[in-house]
Amino acid sequence: QIAVADVSKTFQTDRGPVEAITDVTFDVARGEFVSIVGPSGSGKSTAFRIIAGLETPTDGAVHVDGTRVTEPGPDRGMVFQDDALFPWRTVAGNVRYGLEEVGAPEGFSVDERVQYCLELVGLTDKADAYPKELSGGQRQRVGIARALAVDPPILLMDEPFGSVDARTRTTLHRELLDIWAATRKTICFVTHDIEEAVYLSDRIVVFSDAPGTVRDVVTVDLDRPRDRTGDAFTDIKA
Ligand code: ATP
Ligand code: MG
Repeated sequence: QIAVADVSKTFQTDRGPVEAITDVTFDVARGEFVSIVGPSGSGKSTAFRIIAGLETPTDGAVHVDGTRVTEPGPDRGMVFQDDALFPWRTVAGNVRYGLEEVGAPEGFSVDERVQYCLELVGLTDKADAYPKELSGGQRQRVGIARALAVDPPILLMDEPFGSVDARTRTTLHRELLDIWAATRKTICFVTHDIEEAVYLSDRIVVFSDAPGTVRDVVTVDLDRPRDRTGDAFTDIKA
């Protein structure tokens, strides 16, 4: 479903060009949970931003279902490391954000959809709270609910649980796997934590560090069948 082919990205800076990623190639199949793992500076976020359409590759291309990615779209929900919630909006207002632009998925009104996504992450009681009134783990849940709101077939996550404590992270892991099993989304998950990747993923794409560049992308087949078919994307409400 996601095809990353020979993607390179060079940033031009005052101190000359910085090669963030070099010739990165990997696929993510529909319904698959794939993690990108690598040390700090290995280009994980750059790859994430290119798949998201927030950044243009210098070379190569990303295709989603055969269409070249040139900008963010409602087919790709995004969750960022620092949750990136709108502080002036309530929890419900944050989840509502994407729906205002593209409307609710079929079968839902906007309000129903907000309610549904808050239920999915267990935050219905916080609907009217503001982000600053939430814990870090709760904010991450809001970020996930917001990304799921328009029912994108793909969920892109860049170190979403980096800033929460180990116990909360474990809870969020289980919740994410539950959501994944319930919604059959394709998930591309960035982390520097190999254990987290092993726990969550079907496959792991390893970015190895060389001076500022990625030299290797190794796909590890963990061969751990999960409780789902993964071959057909069924809508979240099904
Ligand atoms: P981390 O685990 O610390 O988040 P990362 O694997 O996500 O690291 P990237 O953020 O993708 O790494 O950065 C890869 C390389 O590209 C780094 O050397 C970084 O300095 C460089 N880089 C990233 N964004 C830019 C930019 N906008 N301008 C210049 N250089 C950049
Ligand atoms: Mg990063």
